Amino acid sequence: MTAAALSRKLNGHYAIQLIESEEIGIVGVGEATVPHIRYFNRTLGLDEADFMRNTQATFKLGIEFVNWGRIGDRYIHPFGAYGRAINGVDFHHYWLRQRIAGDTAPIGDYSYPVTAGRMGKFTLPSPDPSSVLSTFSYAFQFDANLYGPYLRRYALQRGVVRTEGKVVDVRLRPEDGFIAGVLLQDGNYIEGDLFIDCSGFRGLLIEQALKTGYENWSHWLPCDRAVAVPCKGTQESVAYTRSTAHDAGWQWRIPLQHRVGNGYVFSSRFTTEEQATQTLLSHLEGPALADPRVLRFTTGKRKKAWNKNCVAIGLAGGFLEPLESTSIHLIQLAITYLLEMFPDSSFDAAGIDEYNRIMDLEYERVRDFIILHYHATERADSELWNYCRTMPIPDALQYKMELFRERGHIVKYKDGFFLEPSWLAVYLGQRVMPRRYDPLADKLDAASLQRELANIKTTIHRAVQATPTHAAFIQKYCAAA
Ligand SMILES: Cc1cc2nc3c(=O)[nH]c(=O)nc-3n(C[C@H](O)[C@H](O)[C@H](O)COP(=O)(O)OP(=O)(O)OC[C@H]3O[C@@H](n4cnc5c(N)ncnc54)[C@H](O)[C@@H]3O)c2cc1C
Repeated sequence: MTAAALSRKLNGHYAIQLIESEEIGIVGVGEATVPHIRYFNRTLGLDEADFMRNTQATFKLGIEFVNWGRIGDRYIHPFGAYGRAINGVDFHHYWLRQRIAGDTAPIGDYSYPVTAGRMGKFTLPSPDPSSVLSTFSYAFQFDANLYGPYLRRYALQRGVVRTEGKVVDVRLRPEDGFIAGVLLQDGNYIEGDLFIDCSGFRGLLIEQALKTGYENWSHWLPCDRAVAVPCKGTQESVAYTRSTAHDAGWQWRIPLQHRVGNGYVFSSRFTTEEQATQTLLSHLEGPALADPRVLRFTTGKRKKAWNKNCVAIGLAGGFLEPLESTSIHLIQLAITYLLEMFPDSSFDAAGIDEYNRIMDLEYERVRDFIILHYHATERADSELWNYCRTMPIPDALQYKMELFRERGHIVKYKDGFFLEPSWLAVYLGQRVMPRRYDPLADKLDAASLQRELANIKTTIHRAVQATPTHAAFIQKYCAAA
């Protein structure tokens, strides 16, 4: 992603070298994304259908969470709005008012992407703001082992030079400790001005060479392992990722065109790798297509994403676990901010500090949103959930949750990725219910409110009825060979 974006944006002014090792390979399990990836692909000028065909991609309208609030609960966190604001008051306050009056309709009934997802439907959003089809966005689920090479081809066509080989040594400039060059196993020595460390968890340059340090967040996000295995898809294709909570973590199900990606993200404090593998294998919908693979990680981030003349992007910069599919998004943000703060040979400290400040903020906001999922639970059936339910949480999240509990208000962030509907989805989906709603929602008389709610529901239902199935849409739009 980084080499592709830089080759597009820097347009021949800089010589870009991409060093990769086939022997080491990639993590290759990043398969679900968030809608911003569409802007990344568009900036590169990629044709969406071509990209989807080449990566066996499907569409994603959100994530379904199963067993998170209580065993048996399920809700979808959609990429889209619930209802519409009335008289300047957010929709959910009216929904809360109706609920207190005895209406049990779930808030998902007022969301096009939730309803379409549940009914296995998909179509592209409409640019017409008066259409209910303008109220959602979408992302992709794709095979990361195909997306990487797809972007590599793109980068090479735009002048990036790729060197196959293993970096065995990183040499620093004696005068200031900046990186001077990297030595490959075959003796090739590659010098550079700016080094971007995309070496994965090992942080070859940022940590092993520059000793930058790591902020460990595992007291808030205790999962530290994942076991992953693809399987044959046997169910009707749906346009969402599923996350099912188990005793010691949660399992992902990511439907692609050619297979289903599965993994169990768990905490080694509460189960063993063998038990986790058994749990995963016993919850597959079809035959496994490979041997299960265990990955180990520590949730957190590098103390400085940019240190001297090295910027760590991807897993080398940090990892927050894949619950909300945010890692590829954080890569995209890192690339965007790097281009905004692109250095000259002086590597001014102010630009580097600003880059680190904004990346820290992005990581922290994603972190808090993920912690919310673990903390807002009533589950008391296993050690992991007892720990998460009772653990102290970051102050900013505590403040946000208290305000929502008290009056249904969602604290808005100036920066940060997850907007109000996302927080609302998780709060309500995991039983964080406000004590009261915005008093201004009482201005609307009861009959008008009922009419308005019925109208929204019917409009959504009709639109979904007229929407093709996800499988039919893919077949027509982007079926892989
Ligand atoms: C269990 C799990 C599930 C995930 N799910 C998602 C998801 O659903 N959505 C999402 O957005 N993200 C997800 N991620 C994160 C996602 O996989 C990564 O963000 C993404 O794949 C990028 O990884 P990377 O390029 O930073 O590291 P890697 O994939 O590890 O790539 C490292 C690269 O560095 C090269 N390299 C390393 N050492 C050397 C060396 N000595 N010499 C030469 N080359 C070297 C390797 O060859 C490789 O090309 C998940 C991660 C995990 C662990």
